[in-house]
Amino acid sequence: MNWKKVICIAAAISSCATCAGVEAETIPQEQQAISNQQLADAEMMALLWMRTAAEYRALCYQAYNAALAQVDKAIADKKRKKKPLAIVLDCDETVTDNTAAMALSTAEGNGAFTPLWWRNSVHAEISEAMPGALDFLRAVEKRGVAIFYVTNRYSAMNYEQTMNNLKALNFPSVDAKHVLMMDDLKVSDKQPRFDKIAKKYDVVVYMGDNVGDFPLKTKGKSLDERSDIIDSAKKDFGTRYIIFPNPAYGSWVSALSKDYLTMTPNQRAQFFKEFLSKGISAETKQKYDNEKNKPL
Ligand SMILES: [Mg+2]
Repeated sequence: MNWKKVICIAAAISSCATCAGVEAETIPQEQQAISNQQLADAEMMALLWMRTAAEYRALCYQAYNAALAQVDKAIADKKRKKKPLAIVLDCDETVTDNTAAMALSTAEGNGAFTPLWWRNSVHAEISEAMPGALDFLRAVEKRGVAIFYVTNRYSAMNYEQTMNNLKALNFPSVDAKHVLMMDDLKVSDKQPRFDKIAKKYDVVVYMGDNVGDFPLKTKGKSLDERSDIIDSAKKDFGTRYIIFPNPAYGSWVSALSKDYLTMTPNQRAQFFKEFLSKGISAETKQKYDNEKNKPL
């Protein structure tokens, strides 16, 4: 199998959403190192924040606390007795922390989190527990509420390593019934797995770092469509849907551009410039320009 084919297949199966069906070799070789460094530079602040900021930890705790409050509320609700209760959660950057692998790559001047890089990182079994994740999962387990991990790690390539890693973290319910990975390369949409769980369980909360982790039909939607869908579900965030911060990667990047990884350095510089100013009105810009060089 040649490199190009490997990249294309791996792109289709990756859960690392910066990998948006790209063909890395389309960038001229002499520009690849510049491009990789450019991507690393763009990743650095996001990873610094996730790996060091007290605010990141606080947001994780806040998310788990909110989810546990909903679990307790559901347990106390006498009307919710028809089906057993369950929570549904994503793995990566929802309970498992992959920032070490990203940070190591970025420190080497490579922010191109390609599908092959992702597979190798998963196979290294170095995902860590996010702050508060283990306590949260144990608390849910103790309450007798079922835990389902719905992850887009591709089972044919990553099943054994994922199960090993989750077990090593002492997470509960790490078995074939409760860990639902992506079995079909053509079905990265989690909705069929959500539906399967909801047939037998009363799902209290869905948890994830990506809008695709919620049953909101955001798969394949544009940047603006995604925002509209989330706006229309706004009352459910913090209760039925619990989201975690992830500025390092996600389908928000591929929604910006399917070609994010394969842009030339010049194209990417232009892309950053254009999207940074998206939504800023001429009036706002004018007001800013009027004041920006005034002395104190
Ligand atoms: Mg995730």
